[in-house]
Amino acid sequence: ARTSGPPRNVSARVAPLGSRLVLALVEDRTRERRIEAVRRDFVANVSHELKTPVGAIKLLAEAVQDAADDPEAVHRFSNRMLTESDRLTHLVQQVIELSRLQGDEPLESPERVRLDAVMAVAVDTSAMDAGAKDIRVVVEGQPGITVLGNEEQVTAAVANLVANAVHYSDPGSKVLVSAKVIEGFVEISVVDQGIGIPKHEIDRIFERFYRVDPARHRSTGGTGLGLSIVKHVAATHGGDVRVWSEEGQGSTFTLTLPHHATDDEEPPALPLTG
Ligand code: ADP
Repeated sequence: ARTSGPPRNVSARVAPLGSRLVLALVEDRTRERRIEAVRRDFVANVSHELKTPVGAIKLLAEAVQDAADDPEAVHRFSNRMLTESDRLTHLVQQVIELSRLQGDEPLESPERVRLDAVMAVAVDTSAMDAGAKDIRVVVEGQPGITVLGNEEQVTAAVANLVANAVHYSDPGSKVLVSAKVIEGFVEISVVDQGIGIPKHEIDRIFERFYRVDPARHRSTGGTGLGLSIVKHVAATHGGDVRVWSEEGQGSTFTLTLPHHATDDEEPPALPLTG
């Protein structure tokens, strides 16, 4: 750790006002260029990702036409068309969500957001997937915990974490969603007993469109945008998101957001659902 010694950006600190202004302008330009590069990259990635489901739907539509006198084949192809259009809708929704968040600007007028409601909605959005895999999603936390933020964004972030926990877990396992207050912040944790994440991939999973070895979960049809949305929501709220994971054992994602103390808060450790 650095203990003493000169500040890292010495020239910026000792520069007279005129050169400081120039330095600020140069930094501004560099920042603008970087944002522009990220934006260009994002548009290129989105276009690429959109091509896959659109291409599949076109091919399937042609297959339906060719198979007009085979009702069983028509049924099969049109079902796959529905799956692909759901995937397309999900992708477009996530792209819209992400493009709203990408500036990481702090929220202009944060509201009081009750986490018990947020967690209930987040769990509800994965209820069908969890039910289909016989995964039990348990919510725990003291009722009434409130954060300062944007309810839609916080719900989207928690919903993405729960959806991942369910996606990347085996049938019959358990997912725990909990919230607790620690020193002015609220930690929302989503713990699963799923496939886990290889150590060397952990640093990359929050990048846009990054998916750990798509072959290992081809059937789950993710977009690689979920965690990047979670990361940006954390940033706009002045919080952060961390992960612990062990391959084959499971993962814990913890989203930390600023706490807003209210009288609604009840004593800790009351299970909301079982
Ligand atoms: P995706 O749409 O692929 O789920 P995300 O951005 O949400 O995209 O996640 C990025 C990658 O991180 C996923 O492709 C998956 O490999 C890995 N991942 C995310 N959450 C989990 C989890 N709970 N367990 C195991 N792997 C996960």
